[in-house]
Amino acid sequence: MEVISHDIVIVGAGIAGLRAAIAAAEYDPKLSIGVISKVYPTRSHSVCAQGGTAAVLREGDSLELHAWDTVKGSDFLADQDVVELFVNRIPIEIVKLDHWGCPWSRDEDGKISQRPFGGHSFPRACFAADYTGLHEMHTLYGRSLLYDNINFYYEWFVTSLIVDDGIAKGVTAIEIKTGKMSVFKAKSIIMATGGYMRIYNFTTYSHSATGDGVAIAYRAGTPLKDMEMVQFHPTGLVPSGILITEGARGEGGYLINANGERFMRHYAPKYMETAPRDVVSRAEYTEILEGRGFKGPFGPYIALDLRHLGEGKINERLPLIRDVCIKLAGIDPVDELIPIRPAAHYSMGGIHANIKTETPIPRLYAAGECSCLSLHGANRLGTNSTAECLVFGAIAGVEAAKHAQSSSLPDIPQNPLLMEEKRVYDCILKHEGSERIPEIRNEMRYIMDDCAWIFRHGDKLLEGLKKIRNLKERFRNARVEDRGRVFNTGFIAALELDFMLDLAEVTLLSALNRKESRGAHSRIDYPNRDDENWLVHTLAYHTVDGPRLEYIPVTITKWTPQVRAY
Ligand SMILES: Cc1cc2nc3c(=O)[nH]c(=O)nc-3n(C[C@H](O)[C@H](O)[C@H](O)COP(=O)(O)OP(=O)(O)OC[C@H]3O[C@@H](n4cnc5c(N)ncnc54)[C@H](O)[C@@H]3O)c2cc1C
Repeated sequence: MEVISHDIVIVGAGIAGLRAAIAAAEYDPKLSIGVISKVYPTRSHSVCAQGGTAAVLREGDSLELHAWDTVKGSDFLADQDVVELFVNRIPIEIVKLDHWGCPWSRDEDGKISQRPFGGHSFPRACFAADYTGLHEMHTLYGRSLLYDNINFYYEWFVTSLIVDDGIAKGVTAIEIKTGKMSVFKAKSIIMATGGYMRIYNFTTYSHSATGDGVAIAYRAGTPLKDMEMVQFHPTGLVPSGILITEGARGEGGYLINANGERFMRHYAPKYMETAPRDVVSRAEYTEILEGRGFKGPFGPYIALDLRHLGEGKINERLPLIRDVCIKLAGIDPVDELIPIRPAAHYSMGGIHANIKTETPIPRLYAAGECSCLSLHGANRLGTNSTAECLVFGAIAGVEAAKHAQSSSLPDIPQNPLLMEEKRVYDCILKHEGSERIPEIRNEMRYIMDDCAWIFRHGDKLLEGLKKIRNLKERFRNARVEDRGRVFNTGFIAALELDFMLDLAEVTLLSALNRKESRGAHSRIDYPNRDDENWLVHTLAYHTVDGPRLEYIPVTITKWTPQVRAY
């Protein structure tokens, strides 16, 4: 197997991975950095971010207020030291992006515009129309090309992490073009592989969001934290699930039921449509369950009304949304209602890492959506994620660089490489089975939608867990139709499904065990938050018998839990 060496290897080239690469390259121009991405960098899911990136930039707002909004939004499960560091650092990142050329939308006086977003008590979302992620990504990617010490590996698929003597030493990766496996060895490795919401069917996420890095780290021994905490976004376009940004409500859009009523007044009288996502999604779902949804060919839905904003404002602030509605739903929001309902959106959980992005495995760091530090606790506020990728991507880059400066390249043992080749080529690509990959994948997604959705119940979670375990068995008897190695997307999809089944299992088991309702995790059979027993993070460890759960305390610095009302 060919061996490729870099001081630092970064897996993922979304906002977190690119920001990490730039930070490491700037920290020490002598370090060689390899960035591996299964898609071309500017096709990472980060380009889909629409609404904005939160930061305190104006008088009237304060770091303390941003931190409090985040802690309250998290239903007190966020680690407060992480939140405090985050709110302090993000304004600096916004200015950096500005200097690197990010075309932020601006007010008449030239200042960066900011709009309201769910759960934020001050308009602090910086944005570039509703193409925020696209512009941030182009800015970061353009910037990263300036550094001679950043090397990109486009369309390479990482399959495993090599851990030897308890230390992370490298990764195995397949060049998708040839199907050939190589090993990358490094002094520091950063996982920045994004989220895994493609374990659900009705989701706002790209097909690439399969959580590979989360599953890879888990299998290599890193625990996964708070995987029960799945965010449902209130406005997924019906029927595709494509996101209609919360910025549409931030700009003044209404949610209405089939009676024409702005029902949010019953659920969040003060914040109305800009309450946090868990609150709004539950409200919409309750309206639907109680029969007040609109009826349509794709099931009941709620309507998002932007008509009163007028064509001028929609074109200026929400051009992407208008385009998406016209092209994908055949309706123009200037004079028609947008059909929406909650969609699986974001994973608050992920690879367990500390405030410096270090994981429990030495030399392995995690940043961005694949990680759980935990900044978002049980419910993330909109615009805090791209912000997290910038802040903690930069921190991961610097930490990994510091470590790389003082260590030497590891020796990679042969045994794990041989085992990985056998797993990937013999047990998956060449396996003679009767089950089909797309069928298992579809079933997994319908099970997750059915059993681990907005309102959860122990019986359904257990049913889902049994069904996913059954699918894992069936996967062992699956067959990849195309046996070739050259750009074999069916083969890559099989590897991704294998990872997703692990993540679905951990999500269900973590949810089944958390016997309370907190943030996005809403149990019909345990409807109240229970700080006495459950003010803790879940940790799921990989074992041959399935996930083993442990719990660790939440870090509280200054905000004690209180009733969460909006
Ligand atoms: C539609 C949509 C809109 C959003 N809007 C906002 C918003 O307005 N504001 C906000 O704050 N957040 C928003 N979010 C959330 C936010 O965009 C994401 O959480 C964030 O961009 C994730 O960035 P990331 O760098 O962690 O990962 P990603 O951007 O998902 O990138 C993952 C990277 O990992 C690579 N990768 C994955 N697996 C492998 C593998 N096996 N081998 C090699 N490479 C691999 C991929 O190629 C990719 O480069 C939105 C999300 C969606 C889906």
